Amino acid sequence: MKITDFILDLLYPRKCVFCGRLMGDEPGRTCSDCRRNLPFVPDGDAKSHGDYYKVCVSCFYYEDKVRDSILNFKFGGRSGYGTEYAKYLAECIENNLKDEFDVITWVPVSKKRYRKRGYDQAKILAEATADILGMKAVRLLDKPVHNKAQSTIDSAEKRRANVMSMYKAVNTDMIKGKRILVIDDIKTTGATLSECSRILLLSEAEEVLCAALAKTRHVDI
Ligand SMILES: [Zn+2]
Repeated sequence: MKITDFILDLLYPRKCVFCGRLMGDEPGRTCSDCRRNLPFVPDGDAKSHGDYYKVCVSCFYYEDKVRDSILNFKFGGRSGYGTEYAKYLAECIENNLKDEFDVITWVPVSKKRYRKRGYDQAKILAEATADILGMKAVRLLDKPVHNKAQSTIDSAEKRRANVMSMYKAVNTDMIKGKRILVIDDIKTTGATLSECSRILLLSEAEEVLCAALAKTRHVDI
């Protein structure tokens, strides 16, 4: 352990990002108990397909401690969890999408939500994941308009309508002819990722792939 890490550990004892247990001598921020019992998506179910994206991979099912942890990450100010999540996301991407994309980006939050929350959780996730993969995350999408949170809407059709035309492409010279990987925290119906992919394809992306930290096991809305 580096001396700076040692001092940081004394000042801010590391806790498991999933259950809050003190890590003690264990490395990282996932305790051995969670590592064994988290709802990992098995290989056979890791990939799903959408209208505008070729494939979306996910590491976890959005349930139990993963759900609690991501809610803390998004709404509880725990932006630091992103670096731990990124380890799982990077591994999942390496296993399923190796050499299939040229650029990494993320699903952005609106300015209004950014001001309220103080951070953009998917950007944090994308930057930390890109870092592990030896790349840099690039902003390719903006969300000029504020809409209702997808999590408050209970039908797939209304979710699609809620995100329609909410995103716009930026840095378009980085989109044209590129295979783009879009990162987000949670995938439910895939409506947001699909809309972001549509916008990227309109700016002449060659193809779009997606990676979500967690997905719902059944889309029953
Ligand atoms: Zn734990």
